[in-house]
Amino acid sequence: MPARILNSVAIRNEIYGELKQEISTLTAAGIRPGLAAVLVGENPASHIYVRSKIAACELLGIGSWMYTPPATITTDELLALIADLNTNDEVDGILVQLPLPPQVETKRVLEAVDPAKDVDGFHPVNLGRLVSGRAGLVACTPAGCMEILRRSGISPEGAHAVVVGRSDIVGKPMALLLMHANATVTICHSKTRDLPQTVRRADIVVAAIGRPAMIEPSWVRPGATVIDVGINRITDNAEVQRLFSNYPAKLQQFRDKGSVLVGDVHPAVEEVAGAMTPVPGGVGPLTIAMLMSNTVKAARLRRAQSASKNMTGNFAGPAVALP
Ligand code: NAP
Repeated sequence: MPARILNSVAIRNEIYGELKQEISTLTAAGIRPGLAAVLVGENPASHIYVRSKIAACELLGIGSWMYTPPATITTDELLALIADLNTNDEVDGILVQLPLPPQVETKRVLEAVDPAKDVDGFHPVNLGRLVSGRAGLVACTPAGCMEILRRSGISPEGAHAVVVGRSDIVGKPMALLLMHANATVTICHSKTRDLPQTVRRADIVVAAIGRPAMIEPSWVRPGATVIDVGINRITDNAEVQRLFSNYPAKLQQFRDKGSVLVGDVHPAVEEVAGAMTPVPGGVGPLTIAMLMSNTVKAARLRRAQSASKNMTGNFAGPAVALP
């Protein structure tokens, strides 16, 4: 039986509904959550990502500012901009779109962001909070994967979860979130021996590798849940024919546009898995939803403490279930 396709657009809309309520309660108390996006240079993909994030802010009533320094900016100039945003009380979240140009020291810039405004969850303080199981701002993509599981009724508790990939922004925080949700977690990477055998033992597979269609159907235990974080654009005709010979809509899309997107999981895994996220339309929409959720959470934690005495409404917690 084909896998249940985990519909993340419906999940995103549900989260947006919850956020709108919280935003209106905050706004009524004089606190309009606000996100500042820093977009350096002219990278077209980065421009598309940042525009989608600003559009989400506008949809939800979150304030937004976009800073677009030239690609020639120095580390010190960028640090000065971050320092300004750190002290601007109206800015609750600071998003530095990656990648930064080669002359800029990316780690120094990311570590300069006030952890209370670090809505990407990249700052070592927030990573440390996650390691020790304390609530903080969690990286958006792994937080989104957890929301997909939770809102689809798939419990990690007691399950064997295999995370393929150990990057700071996806694999590591993903593994920690699953562990805090009481899964037994195996983390795999490029040096893992016999990866297919390890993946085959999983009840939940999370693929965050950056290799098109790498997880084959024979690697997946029948009935397992598969979360595909990968986003890879394919332009090679032979590769498209190999992957999508049974998917006429994808072949048509390739003929029309000259490229198609594929995840890190082979599309035919849907014949084996119990549940699976699609690419596109799976993890992607939730990443932006979690950025919005983190911005609202950052506003609540940083600014609503003193104002909360005068507020009515639900401030019970973030949309994301944290340890
Ligand atoms: P990354 O920093 O390049 O990390 C890739 C990880 O995969 C590394 O840990 C690497 O192992 C591992 N890996 C590479 N080749 C492997 C192999 N042959 N076997 C086993 N493991 C292997 O990538 P990332 O930033 O985590 O992103 C991963 C994917 O997710 C990419 O496709 C990216 O585009 C996508 N992504 C999607 C979203 C979204 O919103 N949907 C957000 C972020 C990223 P080593 O550590 O040993 O090198």
